[in-house]
Amino acid sequence: MPVAELLRNRLDRLNDTLRNAKENSRFYARHLPELNTLRLESVNEIERIPFTEEKHLGSGIEDFICVPPGKISRIVSLFTSGSTGSPKRICFTGDDLENTADYFSFGMSQIVAHGERVLICLPGKSEYGVSHLLSLGIKKFGGSPEIYGIISDPSHAAGRVNEFRPDCIVGMPVQVMALAECHRREYQGRGPSTVLLTADNAAESLKLRIRNAWDCLVLNHYGSTEMGYGGALECNFQNGLHLRDMDLCFEIIDPYSGKNMPLGEEGEVVFTTLTRLGMPLIRYRTGDFAHLLPGPCGCGQTLNRVSLPWRNNGGTVFLNDRLLTMRELDEILFSNRHVMDYSASIRRGEYESIVKLKIWADGEADCLDSGTRKAIASVLPYGVSVCFEMAEPDDISPGLRGKRLGFVHEPRF
Ligand SMILES: [Zn+2]
Repeated sequence: MPVAELLRNRLDRLNDTLRNAKENSRFYARHLPELNTLRLESVNEIERIPFTEEKHLGSGIEDFICVPPGKISRIVSLFTSGSTGSPKRICFTGDDLENTADYFSFGMSQIVAHGERVLICLPGKSEYGVSHLLSLGIKKFGGSPEIYGIISDPSHAAGRVNEFRPDCIVGMPVQVMALAECHRREYQGRGPSTVLLTADNAAESLKLRIRNAWDCLVLNHYGSTEMGYGGALECNFQNGLHLRDMDLCFEIIDPYSGKNMPLGEEGEVVFTTLTRLGMPLIRYRTGDFAHLLPGPCGCGQTLNRVSLPWRNNGGTVFLNDRLLTMRELDEILFSNRHVMDYSASIRRGEYESIVKLKIWADGEADCLDSGTRKAIASVLPYGVSVCFEMAEPDDISPGLRGKRLGFVHEPRF
C-alpha cells in the first residue's frame, strides 16, 4: 500500500475511534471535546485531545466499554505497581483478540520460518490469554508452537528445551537468562537460534548473557495488556522496534508539559488504539520511556521505529534531588555473571537514605566483587548508601515468579 494511502487510512481509523468513544463510552462522553470539534484533519492534531491516565481506569470498565456487555470475550485484571487498591481491568471483544493474533502472526513470521518450532514461555495458557493468542498467530503461518508457561524452575524448562529443540523461545528476560545458562550448563546442546524477550525490561548486559549462552539472536518485543498485548517488535536488523502502526497510534511526549517530543528525544510513550472495538483507549499514558528513531530500516518495513522502551513500573525514585532508576541497577547487576535476579527497596531517613539490594546468586558465596559494588556506589545520589543481602537458596526470585517489581518503599526511619 502506498505511504499516502496508509497515512489516510490511519487518520480515518483515528477519527472513527474518537467518534466511537465519544458516542458509546460513558467516560469518553465526559472526557472528550464536543463531537463537532473532535474531527482531526491530520494525525498531528491529536495533541489537542486530552490524555487518558491509569487512574481513569479506576472508574471501571463499565465506563469505558463501547459495545453491549455480551460482546466482551475477555476481561483482564491488572494490579498496578505499588497499589493496594482494586486492580485496573481491560476488556476485549472476540474481534479485538483475533486482531492481536493476526499481529502476532505477522510479527512472528518475520523471525520464524514455516515449520520451525517456538517454545512460548509466558503466562496466559487459557483461551485468549497471551500465550494462546501467540500460539494461534504462529500456527496461522505454519509455525509449530508449544506453550510451556512461565519458567519458575529453569532446570525443568532446560529439560524441555533439550527434548523439543525449539528454533525460537519467547519469554521474560530474567527467566530466559536463567534458562539459557542452566541449559548450557546441563546439556551443552544446541539452543534456539532466536530468542524474543517481552513483558519486562531487558538490560543489554542480560541480553549479552543469553547471547553468550546460546550464540543466538536476541530480539525485543514491547507490549502491554492495555495495547492489546502487542505493541512493537524488533526485526533481524536490530535497528530499534517497529511499531504496530496500523492498530496503534504512538506518540512520545514530555511527561511534564504533555507536548510531543522532537524526533529522537526521549519521552513518555503514549498510544491511542485505532482498531479496538470493546474498550478503545485514547492517548493512554504508559509511564514507559523511549524515543522515536529517524530514517528507514534495512529490512524494508515502512512502520515507524522506536528505541526499546524502558518500562517504568515503579522503578524510578527521587533521592536527594537525583533520579535513581532500576534501569541503571539492572545494567550493572546483570553484568555480574553470578547475579540471577535482585529486588530493591528504599528506606528514607532524615539525613541519609539506604538502598537495600537483595541478590539472588547462582550459588557463588561471595559473588559481589569490588567492581560491582563500586559501580553501584557510582550511580547512587549523594547521601545515599547501599546494603546488600543475599537471598536464601530456597527463596524463589521475583523474576521467576512473574513480572519484576519496581522499588519497594519501606517506612522511614
Ligand atoms: Zn527493520
